[in-house]
Amino acid sequence: MIINAAECEPYITSDHRICLEYPRQVIKGIMLTCHYLNIPEAVIAIEDNKRDVVSVLKAEIDQAAATPDYPEKGISIKVLPTQYPTGAEKILIRLVNDRVVPEGGLPADVGVLVQNVGTIRYIAEYFETGMPLVNKIVTIDGSAVSQPANLEVPIGAAIGEVVEKSGGCKLEAGKVIMGGPMMGVAIDDLSRPILKHNNAIIVLDEKDATLPKEIACIQCGRCTRACPMLLMPTVLDMAARNQDCDKLNKYHVMNCIECGCCTYVCPSKRYLLQNIRIGKTIVRQASKG
Ligand code: SF4
Ligand code: SF4
Repeated sequence: MIINAAECEPYITSDHRICLEYPRQVIKGIMLTCHYLNIPEAVIAIEDNKRDVVSVLKAEIDQAAATPDYPEKGISIKVLPTQYPTGAEKILIRLVNDRVVPEGGLPADVGVLVQNVGTIRYIAEYFETGMPLVNKIVTIDGSAVSQPANLEVPIGAAIGEVVEKSGGCKLEAGKVIMGGPMMGVAIDDLSRPILKHNNAIIVLDEKDATLPKEIACIQCGRCTRACPMLLMPTVLDMAARNQDCDKLNKYHVMNCIECGCCTYVCPSKRYLLQNIRIGKTIVRQASKG
């Protein structure tokens, strides 16, 4: 099992704070999961810009190692380079276990379970208190936010109220994103609720929120070099625009992890990820017949 504490999107710090403030519950949650799912070994993956977490978690692991429920092959910590998108599930499995999840497949297909550190901590809390998952720790940040913070908030709370609780906005909001700025989804209504998978609310000011106008591709190849899944984003982009399902399949669109690296590096500001997402929908619909 891999415990994903490699929070790699800009702004988001909720997993880092969970490791620092709830290390006992993180290790207990790992031991409970290993025990009930009969998993012999767990690896906590963190990035090397969060080394303060290592000593805190190591101290808890040392204490846990003397208890009867400690996993057969132990709990270890793997420090990975700080490079987006290290925390993406398929990238993490490649870096930690040197295994490749097949196209359209799941971590279970290569014998790995990936759990977020927040989920693992809540498993311990459930066993200790009997409370189901009713709260979530979320990062509130972004260029429009007055006071960046990590707050534990009830699932279902209105996003606007959560932002207000953190200190509100210092600038007019141009865009509110549920999740990180690379992989998150923009929302159009602040009364929308915090969901159980939310780890961040990012509020960008008008300047940061304005998308540049795309221009023609200059065939520079930067998007291909940036793709961690070794795809050809510009080919997938055109195939999606042309609704060419065969080509989307041929160039493995379903292997895209939607990291946004291609869009980020493109000098022509092509809407690559946006179109590749549409391409994935085209393939999914076609496979349903
Ligand atoms: S979003 Fe772009 S860079 Fe990321 S995996 Fe998909 S095609 Fe590759
Ligand atoms: S990075 Fe942009 S301009 Fe360069 S090849 Fe890719 S889509 Fe074209």
